[in-house]
Amino acid sequence: MRTITFLISIALIFSLTGYKQEEPKAVNYTNNSQYELYKVLREGGKEETEAYYYNTGKEGSKIFIIGGTHGNETAGFMAAEKLLEFHPKSGEIIIIPKANKEAIEINSRTSNNNIDLNRSYPGKLEGNDIEKLAYEIFAIIEEFDPDVIIDLHESLDFHTEGRLGNSIILGIEGDHLLKVLDLLEYINEVDKDVVEFTFFGSPPKNSLNETVSNVLKIPVYTVETSRKNEIDKRVNQQLLITKKIIELYEN
Ligand SMILES: [Zn+2]
Repeated sequence: MRTITFLISIALIFSLTGYKQEEPKAVNYTNNSQYELYKVLREGGKEETEAYYYNTGKEGSKIFIIGGTHGNETAGFMAAEKLLEFHPKSGEIIIIPKANKEAIEINSRTSNNNIDLNRSYPGKLEGNDIEKLAYEIFAIIEEFDPDVIIDLHESLDFHTEGRLGNSIILGIEGDHLLKVLDLLEYINEVDKDVVEFTFFGSPPKNSLNETVSNVLKIPVYTVETSRKNEIDKRVNQQLLITKKIIELYEN
């Protein structure tokens, strides 16, 4: 119990101090994974990308997962693609594996226009290309109305080095804070990385996390692995964390 109180105190301190953030069109997932195409975003545009949907047929939570917001955060979109073969026990799920495909193609945080998708929410119907993409992603979230969102990212280094690697960011409080503590306990037990996963609050303005938390009051878990680790380890961490979050929200 003392450990829990300590963790809650740490969590509250971090939430007050804020933090710094720094093609599968050809693939038919319906054949092997039972996910179906939910929507093509920015159809016909150079930002075109896909959202996939799976319904377990059993009543339960609605989960929304997004990877590839930043094109050089490889483990995030690799994990998101692997999740198209994962089926939760109940409820429904939407996955956008590669939110910013242009940035992924050039292995860069942003596409050539240098506009950060994760500072462009809730987007604009008549904005620049990235604002239009953000607008469509936000519209899917509003329409689907998920119980929880998992937003897969990476950082250059660990949080102990002033970056965000090995952290979970949650911009909403209440009971969700207790779930974050369960999540940290789980991942630090099963993964045993050199730096333990920790928790931060206060996501940056106009990020998906900040906007959805404030406007739609839906919890968004931003997962940040550290690029100081090998890719296989990071993808595995992303998958373990995502599946645990899904389990914590199953009902
Ligand atoms: Zn990122």
